[in-house]
Amino acid sequence: MARLLLVEDDPTLRLSLEVALRLRGHEMTSARLLADAQRITEEQSFDLILLDLGLPDGDGLELCHSLRRRGSIVPILMLTARGTLEARVEGLGAGADDYLAKPFELPELVARVEALLRRKAWHGPGERTKVGRLEIDFRARQTWQDGKPTHLTDMEYRVLEYLLDRRGDVVSREELLLRVWRLSPNNKTRTVDVFMSRLRKILQNEGGLKVLLSVRGEGYRLLLADESS
Ligand code: CA
Repeated sequence: MARLLLVEDDPTLRLSLEVALRLRGHEMTSARLLADAQRITEEQSFDLILLDLGLPDGDGLELCHSLRRRGSIVPILMLTARGTLEARVEGLGAGADDYLAKPFELPELVARVEALLRRKAWHGPGERTKVGRLEIDFRARQTWQDGKPTHLTDMEYRVLEYLLDRRGDVVSREELLLRVWRLSPNNKTRTVDVFMSRLRKILQNEGGLKVLLSVRGEGYRLLLADESS
């Protein structure tokens, strides 16, 4: 079973794809608008995204660009009526993994989805890194919380990867804004603080070991496993 996001504004097509893919045992989330898809992908992670390009509030290519800019490696299958060679090249250039021109037959779509999911599986499991109560396989983008599978967002993976690279060091809020969020370090947004307090809750149990420390006036520090025990 895989977690799939379907971004498609045509209600008839959306329903038939949902039904067909649920029958294959997949967990389906759907979005009709580009803005909804942007928000959903910031909050949840998926094994595959089926992406229509012509959406009422924008071009699906924008979602593809922004996912890749954020470092996401989720496979993307584009569904579009733009069947020209130029359109296909543009789609693949934006970071799509496969391209299906409308109209298509359902069995072909299902076969492509399964092929992409198999290809993803070939990346295979990597090494598991333990951070607090989480075990993370960054290569397979899989996470376990207290031994049970859980899901992190792409941003949570990125921040954790960054902090792990710098573990033991104090990483300033400005550095995180610049290097991970790609925002100006002078930005007064509370994004980093809000994000880090959520991340801290994910990493440690109530009253449990401290893994992610706030260093007042300086930033954040991720402790090494043996320091936090
Ligand atoms: Ca459309």
